[in-house]
Amino acid sequence: MTSKKTIVILGGGAAGIMTALHLSTLYDVYLVEQKKTLGRKLLVAGKGGFNLTNNAVQDKLVTSYHPFSFLEASLHQFSAQDLRAFLQKIGIDTFVGSSNRVFPVEGVKPVEVLNDLISELTKKGVHILLNHQVVGLNQSSVLLLNESNKEKKLSFDYCVLALGGASWSKTGSNGKWVNLFRSQKIKINTFEPSNCGVNISWSNSFLKSHEGKPLKNIAISVCNFKVKGEALITSYGLEGNAIYPIVKELRLLIKNHEKPILKVDFKPKNSLEDLLKKIKNSKPSQYAKALNLGSHEMALIKQFTSKEEFLDPTSFVKKVKEISILVKSLRSIEESISTVGGVALENLNNDFSLKESPKIYTVGEMVDWDAPTGGFLLQGCFSMAYTVANAINLKLPS
Ligand SMILES: Cc1cc2nc3c(=O)[nH]c(=O)nc-3n(C[C@H](O)[C@H](O)[C@H](O)COP(=O)(O)OP(=O)(O)OC[C@H]3O[C@@H](n4cnc5c(N)ncnc54)[C@H](O)[C@@H]3O)c2cc1C
Repeated sequence: MTSKKTIVILGGGAAGIMTALHLSTLYDVYLVEQKKTLGRKLLVAGKGGFNLTNNAVQDKLVTSYHPFSFLEASLHQFSAQDLRAFLQKIGIDTFVGSSNRVFPVEGVKPVEVLNDLISELTKKGVHILLNHQVVGLNQSSVLLLNESNKEKKLSFDYCVLALGGASWSKTGSNGKWVNLFRSQKIKINTFEPSNCGVNISWSNSFLKSHEGKPLKNIAISVCNFKVKGEALITSYGLEGNAIYPIVKELRLLIKNHEKPILKVDFKPKNSLEDLLKKIKNSKPSQYAKALNLGSHEMALIKQFTSKEEFLDPTSFVKKVKEISILVKSLRSIEESISTVGGVALENLNNDFSLKESPKIYTVGEMVDWDAPTGGFLLQGCFSMAYTVANAINLKLPS
């Protein structure tokens, strides 16, 4: 009788857990996590509206990832619908909310979702090594340090790296794993923030009256890219679902030493002509009421409008349709929802194994790809995990 082959998965976050859940029970599977519990970032993600995936039609799903279509095959192998069916099978029911975001059904807490996933791991007989930090990696074994700093060597037939990005380090995703590759020919791109807020120099008087107020139903554009949604005025600048998707464009402008300017349209549903009609018989002091603009929106428009422009209806409505705000910088990597950077895609085969070491696979946010919030990030991690588990399962002797 031949002994079972050993698969070692490094990193017990969304991608690592899902890989373990899809590997055949004919393997001896180890899931290694440096923290004392699994899935800490999943729990953080769960705090602010837990988007497990996005029910967008497949074409929209595929084009939401950057680089364009890099995840297409994987999303076909394991789509948002496949994920929902898989979750349902293990007792996690989901529903589709606004903007196609998929949540656990009402009343189900993120920790319950995580516990259900962990109990499946246990049922499958996955060996879970907590408090074990990966400190060394070669072609056939990993070196682990446990909490008492004792070294342990674990040999593998196949290894899956699922070590995460570099934000919210308290969850364990600290990006320090790049040191594992120091002596290897693997290209690692520098981590940068994604899906984060932006720093803007607000005046003290503006902040004093308007910090914490939302700009609702606006459109924000950078270069030719436009997003509709909401942004929150914060002490440092702006954040929210209309800001996160433009971060990619802003990052590019900053990199190219161009001015990172974002344009706000306060009334994306109305044309200039519509707005002019609405204020036709109003005095400037009545514009806010006529256009249903809040005091914070008026204050923001005024910051970018001269007195003459404010008094001229045509110039004023032009400002309602477009003010240009200079972004100082992006928020830090540490507080961003996700990061780009990490293992460069050019190192990888189609099944996400390393070209240099085909027995080693990489999944999840540690690979250099980008996607917006709204369930796309987790779906990306889950689809990659499925592809990798599937590729390893295919290596079983028939
Ligand atoms: C505030 C917030 C809200 C979010 N909301 C959503 C959302 O609603 N929907 C969505 O799709 N996405 C959301 N995300 C993003 C999503 O949570 C991540 O993209 C996803 O969890 C990444 O999974 P991963 O397995 O690749 O990495 P991680 O979940 O980061 O897991 C990596 C694991 O590897 C471990 N590790 C790292 N180095 C070592 C080492 N040397 N040895 C051992 N273990 C190690 C870490 O401790 C960690 O547990 C959110 C993120 C944040 C921060």
